[in-house]
Amino acid sequence: MPLRRALLALPALLALGGPLGAESYPTRPIALVVPFAAGGPTDTVSRLVAEAMGRDLGQTIVVENVGGAGGTLGAQRVAQAKPDGYILLLHHIGMATTPSLYRKLAYDPVGGFEPIGLVTEVPMTLVARKDFPANTLAEAVAVIKRDADKLNYGNAGIGAASHLCGLLLMQSVDTAMTTVPFRGTGPAMQELLAGRIDLMCDQTTNTTEQINGGTVKAFAVTTPERVAALPKLATSKEGGLPGFEVTVWHGLYAPKGTPPEIVARLSKALQTALADPKLIARFAELGTAPVPAAQATPAAHRAFWQADIAKWRPIIQAAGQYAD
Ligand code: ASP
Repeated sequence: MPLRRALLALPALLALGGPLGAESYPTRPIALVVPFAAGGPTDTVSRLVAEAMGRDLGQTIVVENVGGAGGTLGAQRVAQAKPDGYILLLHHIGMATTPSLYRKLAYDPVGGFEPIGLVTEVPMTLVARKDFPANTLAEAVAVIKRDADKLNYGNAGIGAASHLCGLLLMQSVDTAMTTVPFRGTGPAMQELLAGRIDLMCDQTTNTTEQINGGTVKAFAVTTPERVAALPKLATSKEGGLPGFEVTVWHGLYAPKGTPPEIVARLSKALQTALADPKLIARFAELGTAPVPAAQATPAAHRAFWQADIAKWRPIIQAAGQYAD
């Protein structure tokens, strides 16, 4: 293009977000913080989403595991990062429980983020080491009641889905077990496989292959309906614990102040990723499915997140259990 024409076109290009603005975003790799250890369920979902979104964006999305303190260390990292579109967070239901569970945080657990879109809602399963002396949920409950002081329950710290699910289980059977926190249920699963912890409640995205491979025992899936990837596994209601139901929603976030055009571009990439047949097939093998495209938007995500914060606050306050 001759120089004069190029100069004349410049204002229009800039108005469009042109080569210098969001239109050219992203120009370098993006970091995706996962607030739990590698090899766990949030990590698995995040890596599948990162790969598919990266294809749409034409840039690599590099997963960084920042585990610890129930997911708050990773969330803090993103809330305090530069809001330039080059750092994101993929977190789960903990984003709704943290604001009530943690009364002292070094970051704003709600105002520190721009929601980009919901990702998936994952069932949980109650699993045990392979030689746990029970084969059904009713038998497992009997063992828990009888041997509570000898049993170790693994989780990913306070506010993690595995913590919430464990609390619900212990409330349902009116018995407390010793809990052992890990930086994520990826490492907790390794301990379960080695028989060094006894029980865990975790997303199907971490347990389906172990259950189907017979390397752990499973007693229930915590959804009203059975899960297609685990057809033989009874629901908690079928197993005699109807109140023991919990699913784990996941969402994608940017730091507060990330430009709206970049948030919109990321949301579009998320929707494209969630429609990818390979991603859908892999999610199905792991006992889950992506949310519909209408939920992978900032507005739907914000509304769902706010409603879930409001749902959990009275439950946590009534339980009087805080992380500090
Ligand atoms: N499933 C874990 C939890 O308890 C988190 C993880 O490791 O992904 O929330």
